[in-house]
Amino acid sequence: MTIMNSAPAFPADYHLHTPLCKHAGGEPAAYLESAARKGIPAIAFVDHAPAPGGYDARHRMSMEEFPRYAGCVSALKEGADRPVLFGVEADYYDGCESFLRDWLRAQSFDVVLGSIHYIGDWGFDCETALAQWPKADVKAVWKQYFRLMIKLADSRMYDVVAHPDLPKKFGFCPADRDIREMAQPALDRVAAAGMAIELNTSGLRWPVREIYPSPLALSLAFERGIPITFGSDAHSPADVGCGFDQAVRLARQIGYTTCGRFRARQQTPAPLPLPAYVTAGAGVRGRARPAP
Ligand code: ZN
Ligand code: FE
Ligand code: FE
Ligand code: ZN
Repeated sequence: MTIMNSAPAFPADYHLHTPLCKHAGGEPAAYLESAARKGIPAIAFVDHAPAPGGYDARHRMSMEEFPRYAGCVSALKEGADRPVLFGVEADYYDGCESFLRDWLRAQSFDVVLGSIHYIGDWGFDCETALAQWPKADVKAVWKQYFRLMIKLADSRMYDVVAHPDLPKKFGFCPADRDIREMAQPALDRVAAAGMAIELNTSGLRWPVREIYPSPLALSLAFERGIPITFGSDAHSPADVGCGFDQAVRLARQIGYTTCGRFRARQQTPAPLPLPAYVTAGAGVRGRARPAP
């Protein structure tokens, strides 16, 4: 096999789902094939973790289904032409720790993503709950979101903060100075926890039309030395690696030269690929910073 002889053009995609979460299509093998076609050098399945008490049951596998998830990822690892990681996307919410802490430790995950999808009982990023956004106090919602991120980081249960500014999904955002004020203390705690944050390209597919996090939030993370990973949040094989050229460009513009590589929940730095316009030699070779 020769695929790894030259530096890969893209980073690993550490955010893929499977049909077990009830809102994704395509078998895991099809995600792997899509990664191979697109030159994505490694992938991680991070399907939504089962949760007790019926928490958000319509978006996740049941406890009984978890062994099937673990089994199909480990079967795919065997004979795969590139690394396939076994991970999970686990929600943080008040009270989650009583189950999650021991459960996460009991599994042999390569990477654990921490997500906030709920404020109270409002699944604020769900299309079916979108009607509440126009009536919401946007700044107060974001404030609560970042408060939960502090707790997520302080819990020390996770490796990566997924889609770090998810409340912007439908375009309801406070002013930049407010975001700065709210995000800074949360990112301080993420840095203290030694966690990474994810550049999640699924925001490009939603009304906000922007990668999570924003350039502003990513620059605050960079100032704090927080490592990054990349994730498409693919819920179908076609979305594997989607928008990664743009994500790499953003990371480079902010100043990043490495990204996090995971294995058995240990993180090591890997070189960040050069953006496509440099590797393509399209007249801007050697410029680390394209004109805005
Ligand atoms: Zn999902
Ligand atoms: Fe998520
Ligand atoms: Fe996801
Ligand atoms: Zn997600």
